[in-house]
Amino acid sequence: MGNNKMYAGTKGSSSIGGPSSIGRLVRPNVRALTPYDAKEIPCLVKLDANESPYARPAGPRLLRAIETNRYPDPLAVDLRRAFAKWMLPARMRSIDRVLHGNGSDELIYNLICTFGGPVVYPTPTFSMYGKIAQALGMESTGVPLAADFDIDDARMIRQLRAGKAGIAFISRPNNPTGNSFSEEKILRIIDKTGRIVVVDEAYQPFSREKSFLRHLGRYENLAVLMTMSKIGFAALRVGFLVARPELITEVNKVRLPFNVNSYSQAIAADALRNPRRLENGIRKVVSERKRVLGALSRMEGVSPYPSDANFILFRVSLDPERVFSFALKDGVLLRNLSPAMDGCLRVTIGTRKENSVFIASMKKIMAGR
Ligand code: PMP
Repeated sequence: MGNNKMYAGTKGSSSIGGPSSIGRLVRPNVRALTPYDAKEIPCLVKLDANESPYARPAGPRLLRAIETNRYPDPLAVDLRRAFAKWMLPARMRSIDRVLHGNGSDELIYNLICTFGGPVVYPTPTFSMYGKIAQALGMESTGVPLAADFDIDDARMIRQLRAGKAGIAFISRPNNPTGNSFSEEKILRIIDKTGRIVVVDEAYQPFSREKSFLRHLGRYENLAVLMTMSKIGFAALRVGFLVARPELITEVNKVRLPFNVNSYSQAIAADALRNPRRLENGIRKVVSERKRVLGALSRMEGVSPYPSDANFILFRVSLDPERVFSFALKDGVLLRNLSPAMDGCLRVTIGTRKENSVFIASMKKIMAGR
């Protein structure tokens, strides 16, 4: 339960700016844009943002070694090397295949900036693919998932072929549905379109399925996105793009020079060089996911969906806004996905204790107490 106190709730609790006549000077695509909805709501048990429940404070020796008066390493060589060593199979373990981002969000931005639109993605999915496309003035299309939440490969292919160029973003496992789309269907999209296909593996560490990294040797139009945010280091803002060196060279042209700060580079590299602790945290989340899924399945009026990620999507028979508010009264912060996903909420897997608080609260709510 973190440090067992209410979050101060001051960061980002009020929106930035307000109405003004400046609007007429703003590009129409930006005027129509709504900012990413990431409010800081005070709570005891924070299960809304798919973070890891396990923090790992950086030691004083590591922090003291950072020269605050110097720019960070623009190429983040040490960090990319540590990542390649942990993640990449031996035959492709080269930093030329890895690009660092200020979170994977920034790499999504860089990818769309490099390859342009149309930007195609299944829906529902992570909202930033569409928002960044709009910010950059690119056309974007969401292709609805099938009823079983699998990807509609035929429609994705048609949409991608409609433009001269284009890029697809495929979150696997998908946020917020939690499932991994069929590998065969994604390979078909890569194969049949020749467009850039980005498989976003933010939640891959929690998945039973294998990573798409092993397909990089075969496809020059495939790129894989990864992040430190779900495995204990969301505060650092560190993400990675993995692809053929030729693709990395192009995307690197639009990267801002010192995009990942020295603290993040040092702390992330240190964590990646000692992966056992990362892997322990991942294992605990996967084991708790099973327990939470079991508990939700046994509750009257709750239908959870199977998950390959560090969160679970579930449907409730009550008004989801009521479930959200009642849980918050017990200190538990969830993500309410309705009306976009009717009747649905999403819960991130926390520590065993946090999950027990969530389960107890849900039992009470669903029993009408
Ligand atoms: N991709 C997906 C599918 C996500 O859900 C998220 C975070 N919610 C991100 C990317 C962004 O992660 P980062 O913190 O690395 O920017």
